[in-house]
Amino acid sequence: MKTHYVQSGLLARAGAINAVSVRVEGKPAAFSMKRNGSMDGPETENRKEFFASLGFDESSVVRGDQVHGDNIEVANSALTFPETDGLLTRSKKLLLLISVADCVPVLLFNRKLEIAAAVHSGWKGTVKNIAGKAIDLMSNELNSSPEDVVAFIGPSAGVCCYEVGEDVAKYFSPKFLQPTFTAGKSKLDLKSAIASQLIEKGIPKGNIELSEYCSICNPNFHSFRREGESSGRMLAAIAIK
Ligand SMILES: [Zn+2]
Repeated sequence: MKTHYVQSGLLARAGAINAVSVRVEGKPAAFSMKRNGSMDGPETENRKEFFASLGFDESSVVRGDQVHGDNIEVANSALTFPETDGLLTRSKKLLLLISVADCVPVLLFNRKLEIAAAVHSGWKGTVKNIAGKAIDLMSNELNSSPEDVVAFIGPSAGVCCYEVGEDVAKYFSPKFLQPTFTAGKSKLDLKSAIASQLIEKGIPKGNIELSEYCSICNPNFHSFRREGESSGRMLAAIAIK
């Protein structure tokens, strides 16, 4: 079977199954993973193929109904959590999923205690420091030491393209903003802002892999900014090997 995803070598070497699906021209719905009301659209087949390529099926997935919030849930069985943007597990039977198209998927793994986590961190989630809160939860509830945690900040809106207005820019340190030629607009380096939140929680810089891919300008990814409302979605997935 052909697989269509990118992954973090750092997470894989640490013992985490991990993948972010990509856009594939020629596949139904360009290999979108969007979850529709009816479960028999082309995306259902895409999801099946994606899960199977990682050694899982739909019956083992954990997801949240993402609302750009900062709620994080610990999963012990396969289910969908309402109003949840962060997931955490110690079970080897579960595949944690985050759905994105420009928002940043953050995958975390404690290699000593084998704890996997997945976080949806768009600009709103980043303002709420959901990635930092996931590290706190791992430390406080599961005795995780930040130095044992490795992280992948996945393909998403890059600073090359991610233009924001003052209403968004005001929440971020100037060191994550770049000027543009348009008055009142800045380019936001969301990936670096999230990396600094992880470093603030004690994760060594060398334990963090930043994806070089920008979903907006790289056509191998689905992008809400580029494709609008009809854009497909990608899934970021992590599980314990
Ligand atoms: Zn770009």
